[in-house]
Amino acid sequence: MIDTVRQREAELRRDLVRFGRWLHRLGFMPGTSGNLSVRLTEDRLLATPTGASKYLLQPRDMVVIDPEGRQISGAKKVTSEIGMHLAIYGQRPDVQAVIHSHPVVATAFACAGRALDEPLCSEAVMALGAVPLASYATTGTDEVAASLTHLIPRHEAILMANHGAVTFGSSLLDAFLKMETVEHYAKICLVAHQLGTPRPLKEFEVEQLVLAKSKYQQNAM
Ligand SMILES: [Zn+2]
Repeated sequence: MIDTVRQREAELRRDLVRFGRWLHRLGFMPGTSGNLSVRLTEDRLLATPTGASKYLLQPRDMVVIDPEGRQISGAKKVTSEIGMHLAIYGQRPDVQAVIHSHPVVATAFACAGRALDEPLCSEAVMALGAVPLASYATTGTDEVAASLTHLIPRHEAILMANHGAVTFGSSLLDAFLKMETVEHYAKICLVAHQLGTPRPLKEFEVEQLVLAKSKYQQNAM
């Protein structure tokens, strides 16, 4: 039993390294920005530490925290942005992993005060639904969690005004794929508007996609 828990922790530490590097290579986490976390047990989370390049992180660098954000172990310090992660885990027991990053185009939408909620692309509607924009909040304060609270129950990808994006889901891979899709969708929206003639899907077409998604999910279960 103890061996299984240790094995799982070792795997998750390696996954945090792997997805951190991947996000860094995509340009979503330049400098020391961005953070990732994952549920370790019912009352423990494993997270990337503050002030570290996600390209250089090692499995031993991760910090273990409790659901209130108190550091349990790890030589490095917990990120000041952990409040956003805690708010999500607290409201969504189904969520296993959270990723916060600053992809250029999606963050530019957030800086322009624009949500990614225009149904321009069927794949994005299926994968993400509407991506809302949370109001501006000072990084590292309780304002961040407060700005997200009302959006967390119904979304798994959220833009944060003048800041970046946060995605969450059933695993680190799930949260990662959503982050990648948010940026891809932001690029499509940008170019569609540059072309000058974006044609959003009609309401009934969006409804059909939502229906198709729920059927697909039922079949996958
Ligand atoms: Zn940030």
